[in-house]
Amino acid sequence: MIYNKTKNARKTKLKIKWGKMNRFTKITASIGPKCEDKKTLTKMIQAGVNVCRLNFSHDTGDVQGKKIDLIREISAKLNIPVAVMIDLQGPKHRIGNFETEEKFPLQHGQKFIFDKNEKPGNSSRVQLPDQDVFASLKIGDRILLNDGKIEMRVDSVTEDKIETTVLRGTEIWSRRGFNLPDTEIATSVLTDKDRADLEYALTKNPDWVAISFVQKPEDIAEVRDFITARTSHPVKIIAKIERPNAVERITEIAAASDGIMIARGDLAVEVPFEKLPAISRHIIRECRKMNKPVIMATQMLGTMVNSEFPTRAEITDVANTAYLRADSTMTSEETTIGINPVNVIETMTKILSYADSDAIANPYDWSRVENVPENDWSRSVASMAYLNKASAIVVFARDTITATQISCRKPDIPIIAVCRDRLIANQLCLTRGIFPIYDEDLFGQRDAFNAARSFGVEEGKLVIVDEDKISLRTLD
Ligand code: PEP
Repeated sequence: MIYNKTKNARKTKLKIKWGKMNRFTKITASIGPKCEDKKTLTKMIQAGVNVCRLNFSHDTGDVQGKKIDLIREISAKLNIPVAVMIDLQGPKHRIGNFETEEKFPLQHGQKFIFDKNEKPGNSSRVQLPDQDVFASLKIGDRILLNDGKIEMRVDSVTEDKIETTVLRGTEIWSRRGFNLPDTEIATSVLTDKDRADLEYALTKNPDWVAISFVQKPEDIAEVRDFITARTSHPVKIIAKIERPNAVERITEIAAASDGIMIARGDLAVEVPFEKLPAISRHIIRECRKMNKPVIMATQMLGTMVNSEFPTRAEITDVANTAYLRADSTMTSEETTIGINPVNVIETMTKILSYADSDAIANPYDWSRVENVPENDWSRSVASMAYLNKASAIVVFARDTITATQISCRKPDIPIIAVCRDRLIANQLCLTRGIFPIYDEDLFGQRDAFNAARSFGVEEGKLVIVDEDKISLRTLD
């Protein structure tokens, strides 16, 4: 089912520029040096970006603030709702510096020491600046360095020294990041840097805040408390799932947060890589049950950093995200430092549009109402739409919850969310199949018809949801 704009749609009072409604899977784009100028960003939004992600691991403060202003300006000018998501670095661990810039070779079976000594490192030891790690590590835990290329086992640990044996090793050099897949680290999910970044970002009213290295539901509560102590602006929280202990507690973490990101970069270091697809599917299912949107992230079109074309495997990965009915794909380096960020978004839009249309035309085993109680009202909305072959669902969205819950039933027809609040319209940009309209004066049934027509829905039935009233109307 493909919806095009028609002459009639232009006659209605609304002028929506969402484009065709044949893409239900949203695109979250990381914004960086190669795409933060006005021209490129405008073209990317026109090509299909729904959410702009600003990674505070790289820039901070006013540099990011100016990008937020620019995104808001372009979104208003184009009349295309776009969400702003800030992504905090979180407690990412790094080793200290070495004596030289050279790489030091590591041999299988050799001993290596981490300590608190600020002296530059050498082939047998290096400083580890994170105090929390000394307190949290246990004998037998693994330490993975340099994207998992080096693996060490902890032999002994004291207050100021960790002795290890190298199990797999290549070379080590300054400031390498490391992961601790077996260790629950007793630390706050917000570092001092994150607190300063978030404090600043909140002054710019972001729509979403993504939290890195979440380990437990209490981490989300901590961030929510931090936010509510500083603003009444209802910022939504995304929990980035990149640690095995977070995977184990995904249901509780999804319940505590407003959305989930499957952060496959660090996740594939911390869990055996062959488990990544199964874990991703599990997270998508849990999010659907908990009525939370979910983003599939990292290396989706990674080779397009240097290439104009995706690989066959990348095309399939992006399409499979749509077939799994996840809410959003995400770009990383391919848009921040890639040779052609606009082409990346056009490519992603093309793949998702086709996959979404095909998934709707040829549904397979992915049931619409999986694991949801029969008397759940959102299930009734989806069933009413399905049984009556409705063309669209129109929701008068006073918050994000109603439309998001209906989206999680995967009704496979557009959900047009009529929002009187720009923030609600922006936040709904992330969620699958939702097409938000922002207009302060829309409230009656006629407006529901006009809203549908603006998106090219010319005939058929509409399911209209207005608070607790659900009605079925034929477009006239
Ligand atoms: C990831 O690890 O996949 C991720 C999205 O996080 P970051 O880019 O912040 O490392």
